[in-house]
Amino acid sequence: MFELPPLLLALAFILVGLAAYFLGRRNGALRTVRLPRDYYEGLDHLINDRFDHAAEIFARMAEADGDAAEIQFALGSLFRRRGEVDRAIAIHSRLRDHGSGGLRDKAAFALALDYQSAGLMDRAERVLEELSASREYRRAALDHLVSIYEAQADWAKALKVFHELPPAVQLERGRVAAHYLCELAEHALVQGDSERARTLLRQARTHQESLPRADMLAARISEKAGEPKAALVLYLHALENSPELALEIIPAVLRIAREDRSFDLLPELGRRLQHSGSVTPRQLAWLLATAMPAQDIAQLPGITAQLGAGVETAAEATSLSALLTRIGDAGGRYQCDDCGLNSVGWYWRCPKCRCWDSMRPAVIKWAERADHAIRVS
Ligand SMILES: [Zn+2]
Repeated sequence: MFELPPLLLALAFILVGLAAYFLGRRNGALRTVRLPRDYYEGLDHLINDRFDHAAEIFARMAEADGDAAEIQFALGSLFRRRGEVDRAIAIHSRLRDHGSGGLRDKAAFALALDYQSAGLMDRAERVLEELSASREYRRAALDHLVSIYEAQADWAKALKVFHELPPAVQLERGRVAAHYLCELAEHALVQGDSERARTLLRQARTHQESLPRADMLAARISEKAGEPKAALVLYLHALENSPELALEIIPAVLRIAREDRSFDLLPELGRRLQHSGSVTPRQLAWLLATAMPAQDIAQLPGITAQLGAGVETAAEATSLSALLTRIGDAGGRYQCDDCGLNSVGWYWRCPKCRCWDSMRPAVIKWAERADHAIRVS
């Protein structure tokens, strides 16, 4: 019987509160007699999961009382959350077109949310753009527009709206704008326009000075331009600032080093990763074991034994690498710090919780657990 989800239950309580408010306000009026019966009947349907009946009754109540806009808003959001977006749209459109001045913006905003959840993004965009001129809803409208453009991977539009946000917010979210510009730079690179990519990366750095993603892209540009040494410097710089990018950076670094034999890279990689101070010797060893191809693993024991990470022979290094790769292939090489999503591929922005910079190699966590287990035993 009581299988209502918590959200629906919470909305039911809101409706209880609103109805109590209106009943109290109308105490003594003729309609007082009619409203309680309807109301209790509606509530009975609601808590017994007969949602359609409840919705009909509340809709009738809201219609009978032209001032009961709050009930209509509660009902509209109830419909939206139930997935009955058409009905939510009908309610909010009516409130927007016929409501009093103060209610129109509120109804327009609710309507934009309806359109968004119905996947009618162009309509949501239009309503939100209009609302960005309203004083009360400007900020919320801009935030929603940014999230729509982010979801559509329309980075140019997301950036344009970002620049309309208050300066303090722009400063606080500088890293996000830098990512938009890096996305645009990647696109320019795909189009073969290195010059435009360089300009975009320069702009990205004005939002966020230390930006490993921009270093990596600049390294790609240098590599393409036949400047492997410059690329190597950039890659190593990014690695030093963000050891969590090791799995993305190390293969590129090894590729360059293989062509340019003048340079013993492994100790340098270890030194850079260690220098960041944010990884333990075991995390470092396991990161290297995961990132390196089989032919390079044999060189691993030298460096990890030196770090005291417990990998002492070439055979040990090879089997550690095979084991970590197998676990990673089965469960995902990366994990989101924020929502825990496991993923085989790398994302700058988690596809589930949409957080930027929240993915990390899962191997970092596994090594942490191993360190902990060894300390405890
Ligand atoms: Zn996430």
